[in-house]
Amino acid sequence: MVWKPSEREEEFFARMEFEKKKKQEEEKQKKLAEAEKKKLKELHYMKCPKCGMELIEIDYKSAKIDKCSGCEGIWLDAGELETVSQLEKTGLDKLFSVFKK
Ligand SMILES: [Zn+2]
Repeated sequence: MVWKPSEREEEFFARMEFEKKKKQEEEKQKKLAEAEKKKLKELHYMKCPKCGMELIEIDYKSAKIDKCSGCEGIWLDAGELETVSQLEKTGLDKLFSVFKK
């Protein structure tokens, strides 16, 4: 007598197979997203978010301020706005004088 799996068992194995493939696909997409993120970071690191030109980093009072060599926009890293906002008026004036041509 040949043993035949019941319909419920076939359904179970099909679902198992699907779950397995779904997991593999999710892993693949995760790796792809990480690779894409890394690529974008390399591509955009120290580039102006507005015009894409090189940023020049200036150290000033524990803040590293990035100034664009193209459009002259000034960019701050996380937490640096707080640092800059705590500067005295004279400190702020000095900061801006650093950037004056
Ligand atoms: Zn720029």
